[in-house]
Amino acid sequence: MTTRTDVDDIAAAFTAHFGHAPDGVWSAPGRVNLIGEHTDYNEGFVLPFAIDRSARVAVRLRADATARLVSAYGNQGLVTVNLDTLSPGTMKGWTAYPLGVLWVLRQQGVALRGFELYLDSDVPLGAGLSSSAAIECATALAFDELLGAGLAPADLVLVGQRAENEVVGAPTGILDQSASLLATEGHAVFLDCRSRESTLVPLDLAAAGLLVLVVDTKVTHRHATGDYAERRASCELGAEVLGVASLRDVDAEDLAEAAGLLDGETYRRVRHIVTENRRVLATVDVLGTDGPAAIGDLLTASHASMRDDFEISCPELDLAVDTALANGALGARMTGGGFGGSAIALLPAAGEPTVRAAVVHAFAAAGFTAPDIFAVTAAAGARRLDR
Ligand code: ADP
Ligand code: MG
Repeated sequence: MTTRTDVDDIAAAFTAHFGHAPDGVWSAPGRVNLIGEHTDYNEGFVLPFAIDRSARVAVRLRADATARLVSAYGNQGLVTVNLDTLSPGTMKGWTAYPLGVLWVLRQQGVALRGFELYLDSDVPLGAGLSSSAAIECATALAFDELLGAGLAPADLVLVGQRAENEVVGAPTGILDQSASLLATEGHAVFLDCRSRESTLVPLDLAAAGLLVLVVDTKVTHRHATGDYAERRASCELGAEVLGVASLRDVDAEDLAEAAGLLDGETYRRVRHIVTENRRVLATVDVLGTDGPAAIGDLLTASHASMRDDFEISCPELDLAVDTALANGALGARMTGGGFGGSAIALLPAAGEPTVRAAVVHAFAAAGFTAPDIFAVTAAAGARRLDR
């Protein structure tokens, strides 16, 4: 929950930097993907929820075309940009996320104005919890209102995705921005990435006596380079060879035939997507019939598929998952794009100290960097805070 103090603090920080109060303060959360990994760009299904950690932007419009941006993170100083010269190649570092959103809005016909922006976020960077989409969505919501763009949340999802794809250069799907913009408290967002239709699915962990623990392995991933794009290319190749528009169109029953048509590696990539789509649908069903305590095996099967077929896990993620499972977790999996980042474990709330201690101990014994471990709740989506 964001308290009044948070809003006052960020407004005060804005004022300290720019010498006057902001026009408003907007917030957008990071997310945990409960299940459905790398299925988004295959037009499949995902089931993320927004977490109680968010990026907050305080913004004030200016009369000229100058943008001035500062982040509370890491003493990176004030960045000043002339909006008339804004183009994907000219945006450097973290400012590519907010400025990328502005650039996309202009591409879509929105007249820009200069502004001052102060960013503060408690979504850990590069931990697979989508600190990037949190910035994009907070920025998109702020400027949609300030510039009178009048876009619906589902349009703002695409604005954020375009910024990430075309400006940052990370070929990600719509999962992260959808979770951040469309989620509500106590719900996960079931998203059909083909139709872009979303449904809110009740996810009341506390009522079931459960919690989701995030283990941030501190292994940082790099979506904009290499592996993520390679997995995406494998999926496109698989769809092309199988003669379908996207892997969404491949059913589990088609897999035996696909095995004969694809090389071994591409087949395993395809099998992950096909089975993962099934697991997402099954998770939504089971949540509806038996509640969250019954989805553990689906989460764990998802991890095995990512580890063995899609090959996007790493030793730290596998250790977090295995240790949580061996110490009472009902299910566990890596979450996010992979190659590092975070794992999640679903467990009885009373079991938190045991799992926490076991994971810390296992990481130390393996000589890994100490992980950051914290519980998350299914929180509200992006919104204006100061009203
Ligand atoms: P993830 O979205 O999983 O956290 P990404 O690599 O997509 O990882 O995004 C992380 C990047 O987002 C960082 O390298 C940084 O450029 C930017 N970022 C995230 N949070 C902040 C922040 N509070 N201040 C400045 N930049 C940030
Ligand atoms: Mg990201």
